[in-house]
Amino acid sequence: STFKSLGILESLCQACEKLQYKTPTEIQAEAIPWALQGRDVIGLAQTGSGKTAAFALPILQALWEAPQGLFACVLVPTRELAYQISETFESLGSVIGVRCVVIVGGMDMMSQAIALSKKPHIVIATPGRLQDHLENTKGFSLRNIKYLVMDEADKLLDMDFGPVIDKILKVIPKERHTYLFSATMTTKVAKLQRASLNNPVKVEV
Ligand code: AMP
Repeated sequence: STFKSLGILESLCQACEKLQYKTPTEIQAEAIPWALQGRDVIGLAQTGSGKTAAFALPILQALWEAPQGLFACVLVPTRELAYQISETFESLGSVIGVRCVVIVGGMDMMSQAIALSKKPHIVIATPGRLQDHLENTKGFSLRNIKYLVMDEADKLLDMDFGPVIDKILKVIPKERHTYLFSATMTTKVAKLQRASLNNPVKVEV
């Protein structure tokens, strides 16, 4: 298959080409068509599978079609992963001028608050620090987001982010698209899936 045959718009196909993404990986080929149809997706895939672009491309395409303020929130277990995902969004989305902010622990709250006030489209965050901003940063909220991604969900839950994620789920719209990616399907991941996804399609590579 090609990105075009999966339904990806020309400008984003060109961004893929620039990054030397010649053909979609398996997880991309399986997840992207469902995501473009508006379905929630649970993806069982490892790092290295191309899972980041599998959720970034449909989100960027939706943003392109209906630009607005804060559009998507991506929850991740670690800082390193947050920065990696931000880079992928920025390189794939540079054609549409996407703005991303990374919100992780151990960095200055004030400079993060300033970055959040500059109207990013995508926030990529570790849950604890994101919750801290939801409680303490004036003018910041997730109440209009259209997309929620939980990446490496098994690791998020192993790190005991479950209770914070539950709090975050309470302050984002019920009507949204949700993508959950995990290397493994555990009891805890299944519980999070039931609490946060609506009739999801499961793709496994
Ligand atoms: P990920 O699993 O999202 O961390 O991606 C792993 C690596 O694969 C990253 O370095 C991506 O840039 C690269 N990648 C993602 N999609 C493709 C693709 N369709 N073709 C070639 N490389 C890709």
